[in-house]
Amino acid sequence: MGLMDGKIALIFGLANKNSIAWGIVKKLHQEGATILLSYAGEIMEKRVFPLAQEIGCDFVEPCDVTRDEDLDAIFAKIRDRYGRLDTLVHSVAFANRDDLGGRFVDISRDGFKLALDISAYSLIAMTRRAEPLMPDGGSIMSMTYYAAEKVMPRYHVMAVAKSALETITKYLANDVGQKGIRVNAISAGPIKTLAAAGVPGIRAMLKYSEKTSPLRRLVSQEDVGDTALYLASDLSRNVTGEIIYVDAGYHILGLTATEEELAEI
Ligand code: NAD
Repeated sequence: MGLMDGKIALIFGLANKNSIAWGIVKKLHQEGATILLSYAGEIMEKRVFPLAQEIGCDFVEPCDVTRDEDLDAIFAKIRDRYGRLDTLVHSVAFANRDDLGGRFVDISRDGFKLALDISAYSLIAMTRRAEPLMPDGGSIMSMTYYAAEKVMPRYHVMAVAKSALETITKYLANDVGQKGIRVNAISAGPIKTLAAAGVPGIRAMLKYSEKTSPLRRLVSQEDVGDTALYLASDLSRNVTGEIIYVDAGYHILGLTATEEELAEI
């Protein structure tokens, strides 16, 4: 028997096999969930359909999360076909390259709006549409990063978007909690993905995390998938409004220098 037997899970943000969303999809599928997938744009369509086939998923719908009509359409299709939803995974983010790197003060107004719309507001827009499909409760989760709390070089506009996402998580959790719907976020350590490739200096960040995090290792898509399974399943039935770290412990550090580095100073 699987932890997700009989549950229906909708996942936004699958781009390819390196996506965090793929780590989550595989885990939820393995535990018995019916997986529904969404993708953004034609390029993603070509990549996502073969992945859907791999897990026998026949619900694969386009959705640009900045478009209300796209969101309306996908949730209406779920209502008509399944009548309900148990799990919603938001694994979506975007920022213009110009607004990552450079100087923080140079973030453009348009770039700010775009990043916040796609990466943060979309969680509100999705939750509003998911709520009526979760009459017996459900689990909603999104993916965040520690740059929401502490300054990380070059993360800039995305750091602001992640701060908004984390605050949105808490307000949504309070708003829909009385209906038994839980809203949480996973704060993952850096992972090599398409989105991460847009952050200047990501390779160095990966190396640094591995060298300095208490567990001295990097986080994988599967690691996030395991925590997503916990959040999606009844194991976390009384957990809501939480930011759960899957970062090999990096966020507990006040000083990230290793003993060897300190000895050299
Ligand atoms: P990814 O590139 O595989 O996934 C990002 C997804 O966002 C893609 O599928 C893309 O199609 C989608 N997207 C972008 N604009 C969209 C739009 N307008 N409408 C719908 N979808 C859109 O990269 P990932 O690293 O797996 O990112 C998933 C989530 O994890 C993001 O929220 C990211 O910020 C977060 N995260 C990533 C890391 C990391 O190091 N990779 C760490 C912590 C958190």
